[in-house]
Order: sequence, then structure tokens, then C-alpha cells
Amino acid sequence: MNIILLGPPGAGKGTQSAGLVQRHGMKQLSTGDMLRAAVKAQTPVGLEAKAVMDRGELVSDAIVSSLIDENLAAMPAEQGAIFDGYPRTAAQARDLDSILAKNGRKLDHVIELGVDEDALVKRITGRFSCANCGALYHDTASPPQVEGVCDACGGVEFKRRPDDNEETVRTRMQEYRAKTAPILPGYEERGLVSRIDGMGAIEEVSEAIDSILS
Ligand code: ADP
Ligand code: ADP
Ligand code: ZN
Repeated sequence: MNIILLGPPGAGKGTQSAGLVQRHGMKQLSTGDMLRAAVKAQTPVGLEAKAVMDRGELVSDAIVSSLIDENLAAMPAEQGAIFDGYPRTAAQARDLDSILAKNGRKLDHVIELGVDEDALVKRITGRFSCANCGALYHDTASPPQVEGVCDACGGVEFKRRPDDNEETVRTRMQEYRAKTAPILPGYEERGLVSRIDGMGAIEEVSEAIDSILS
């Protein structure tokens, strides 16, 4: 199974990917996470991407497609892939088709998470994650069970993304509307798109995704 989770920043792609990894043993391929790892490691890609990400603009197609290419090639053939935050442009959608074909895979579902814009800003400005294991939290919607302690690993240090501020979020939403949303009709023509209401509770959204996959 190979699926794309599509939706604007804060729609819940990362949260739902983590659930799919746990429930179905799939692998999450998040270009955002890959780029943040490159920034942290100060690789040439990271050095080039950092300023672009801080502005909320899109990193070049060539960079993100080669990250996906490398990571997919390293996966066992039988493991399902979740594309989280990729593709984000028409060129990336074309790249993904050829990367999948090269690896003997095909796209099964494009799941679009629909969320209203005010909710997105609240979600993003309340987002934080465990500095040790990366588990995702929200100040009000899904805080750790014990304040200050990660549910998943017991870690006590948390971090917030530098691009999770209201101004950058607006730019990221514009990028989504201008460059990412236009790739949906092509997938619709191929009969691959399911639209899910992303405004429900995390578990409700997970159930809706599982019913598409089953
Ligand atoms: P994305 O990967 O699409 O940018 P995330 O999965 O990181 O989105 O979610 C953004 C923030 O919203 C996180 O803090 C997360 O805990 C929270 N969140 C995710 N799904 C929901 C939901 N269904 N209801 C409320 N908050 C949610
Ligand atoms: P979100 O969870 O808010 O949707 P991501 O973590 O997916 O955000 O992406 C963070 C930033 O990384 C984006 O604003 C963009 O600068 C860059 N980025 C991630 N994925 C891509 C991609 N597929 N194409 C171009 N830029 C990307
Ligand atoms: Zn943790």
C-alpha cells in the first residue's frame, strides 16, 4: 500500500502518519522531517533549505524528490509507504510517479484532510514535539498525559518549530493553495482521491482513514 496524505499545514498529516505507522507498520516519508534533519546536520541541502523553510516557501522540487527517491529505494518492497507533505507541486507529482514505477510500486490512495483555516492557525501555533523521540503534541488538543513528560518515551524536553508562527503559517497556506491544491484534480481523474473531514478528534480521523484503506 502506498498512500499520499495531502492537506494544508496543520491538517494532521504528521499525527495521522504516526498512527498509521503504529497500526499498520507502514513507513512515514515526510519531506519536512527529512529537511529538518538536514538543517540540523548542516548538510549542503540543509544549508540551502533553511532560509526557504523559515520564510514558509517551498524548497526546490529537485531537492525534495531526491530525498524521497533515496528513502523509498531503501525500503523493503513489502512495506507500505505514507507520503506526508510530498508531493507539493505538479512537478513533484510527476517525479513521484516515476520514482514509484522505478521501485515497482503504485499509488493506492490520495487522502485529503480538509480543515478550516482558523483551526489551522490554532493547531500550528499550539504544536510542539518531544525533543527525544519526535512524538507530536498540542497545547490544548493533545497535551502529554503527564504535563512535561512525553507519553511515548518519558522524555522531558520539548521543542517548537521556528516556522510555526502565525505570519509564516499564512505564507505556507498560500503556497498550499497556489501550488499544492492544483495537483488534486489530476489524482481525481485517476480515481485516487478520498476527502476526509480533518476537523474531528484525532481518533475519528484515524478511523476514517482506516476505512479507506480496508
Ligand atoms: P501537519 O503534519 O499536517 O502539519 P500535525 O499532524 O503536525 O499537522 O498537526 C498539527 C497540530 O495539530 C499538532 O499539534 C497536533 O497535535 C494537532 N492535531 C492533529 N490532529 C488534530 C485533530 N484531529 N484535532 C486537534 N488537533 C490535532
Ligand atoms: P507542515 O507539517 O506544516 O505541513 P512540513 O513539515 O511538511 O510542514 O514542511 C515544512 C517546510 O518544509 C515547508 O514549509 C517547506 O518549506 C518545506 N517542505 C517540506 N516538504 C516539502 C515539499 N514536498 N516541497 C517543497 N518544500 C517542502
Ligand atoms: Zn518522546
